[in-house]
Amino acid sequence: MKRVIIVGGGIAGLSAALKVRRAARAGANVDFVLLERDGRLGGKIAGEVVTGEYGTFVIDGGPDSFLTAKPAMHRIAELVGVAERKMPTDESRKKTLILKDGRLYPMPDGVMQFAPTKFLPFATTGLFSWPGKLRAGMDLFIPKKKLAPGEFNDESLEHFIVRRMGREILNRLAEPLVGGVHGSAPDQMSLAATFPNLLEMEQRYGCMIKGFLAQRKMAEEMRRTHPPDPARPRTFFTAFTGGMHEVVEAMADSAGRESLRTGTDVSGIERMQDGTWSVFLRDGSRVAGDAVVIATESWAAEPLMREVDTDIADALAGIPASSSATASFAFDESEVGVDMNAFGVLCPAVEHGRLLAVTYSSTKWPGRAPAGKVLFRAFLGGPNNQAIMESSDEELTAIALTELRTVLGIPEHVQPLFSRFYRWTLGMPQYSLGHLDRVAVVEQRCAEIPGLALAGGAYRGVGLPNCIVSGENAVTKVLAEWGIELEEDETPTPRTH
Ligand SMILES: Cc1cc2nc3c(=O)[nH]c(=O)nc-3n(C[C@H](O)[C@H](O)[C@H](O)COP(=O)(O)OP(=O)(O)OC[C@H]3O[C@@H](n4cnc5c(N)ncnc54)[C@H](O)[C@@H]3O)c2cc1C
Repeated sequence: MKRVIIVGGGIAGLSAALKVRRAARAGANVDFVLLERDGRLGGKIAGEVVTGEYGTFVIDGGPDSFLTAKPAMHRIAELVGVAERKMPTDESRKKTLILKDGRLYPMPDGVMQFAPTKFLPFATTGLFSWPGKLRAGMDLFIPKKKLAPGEFNDESLEHFIVRRMGREILNRLAEPLVGGVHGSAPDQMSLAATFPNLLEMEQRYGCMIKGFLAQRKMAEEMRRTHPPDPARPRTFFTAFTGGMHEVVEAMADSAGRESLRTGTDVSGIERMQDGTWSVFLRDGSRVAGDAVVIATESWAAEPLMREVDTDIADALAGIPASSSATASFAFDESEVGVDMNAFGVLCPAVEHGRLLAVTYSSTKWPGRAPAGKVLFRAFLGGPNNQAIMESSDEELTAIALTELRTVLGIPEHVQPLFSRFYRWTLGMPQYSLGHLDRVAVVEQRCAEIPGLALAGGAYRGVGLPNCIVSGENAVTKVLAEWGIELEEDETPTPRTH
């Protein structure tokens, strides 16, 4: 029996565990043990169902959804029996607001990622100045970046957007859009590692506006030829009815909880002379296995890798991470005085506030709050606001509430029914310039060391579907070294609720 030791019980580690379990069910002589430092599984996926005198609220403390277009989460949901719990956003109330000079402006219709594709809404919005709009339009005339044949193209998000569309689009659109998602400062963020589509688009269409126009036409054509099924709407993001932690619980059940050890802090890893692995725990004990998958944050993997391979450790040390927090607040809808017909507010750094964004959770995801109540989630931190992350949970909750009042205009006398706070210290890996080189070093060295693989959101995509694929790929690598290939047509595990 070959045993895989998985370190880290976030979505990547759980996906790895599930993959080993599937291989075992398919007849392979393999097993796993997963070691997670925290007292619970899920890593950044955390949440709770709050039931009390006001009714039932569903809170997501970390991710609140996944990108619908990526298949991995759909596949996992199917496998572990929670596919029927998937939930689209309420498109009838879809609107994104952007804070400017203390006022909220709707994102102009037709804006795709960072570029306008409809003239009138962009021309008439008060979100951008006339010089800013004209500068954005210059995108159509600015020649594409010249590349030598085979040249690897990378630049920071800031450099690219300012070069093509001007600083106002960066400050008012691109920065707030990515600040929350990636927790990265635009002047550090590698486009090749985060939005390679923009670089490809420039080379293919000559500019962003033409590229996004072509994409819009393709999407419209797709909708015409394959009209969406009104009974199963396919929205940009998808969540789970009972919160994102639903999928974690189902994955843990399916992988087998007897092999998932929480409260188990790994302090060191050693490759033995005979090629097997020893994993040392903080309590002084040791776990032996034939392969190790490190599915922790990159900064947590770095000290573990130091004794195993210094090239990997050095590459990991070059991946920065920023801290953030979410604070959810429940209110009485009749008191709060906010027009709830929006998904949320983006708060650009140039506004000098302390919030990155606010999600109207109960609008975006029906059922997150009972009738007559509303739920907001404020997002704090990010690269420009690291200093405030030193504050206590209580102080940050108070800061979030004060800012929420300012941004949304919630009167001082209206108190939240309750709040929930989640802190994510170094929770956001930053894909800074040179990220792909660092990841290439990690992958190349792992390929050369039998029985070793790294997985997680720090490498090739922070989104949950990417993390799933990364955990599965790590297991594919070690199983292949043992001559085991897993067919991807396993029978899903039935699950009832
Ligand atoms: C606030 C926030 C909101 C987000 N929103 C979204 C979203 O809406 N959609 C989306 O797709 N993505 C979102 N993301 C990103 C996504 O949540 C993460 O990229 C993903 O959950 C990371 O999963 P992971 O398994 O790689 O790592 P993690 O979830 O970080 O898991 C790593 C685990 O390793 C454990 N560990 C570390 N060191 C040790 C050790 N020495 N021994 C044992 N265990 C150890 C940790 O305790 C942790 O549980 C968000 C992230 C944050 C922080």
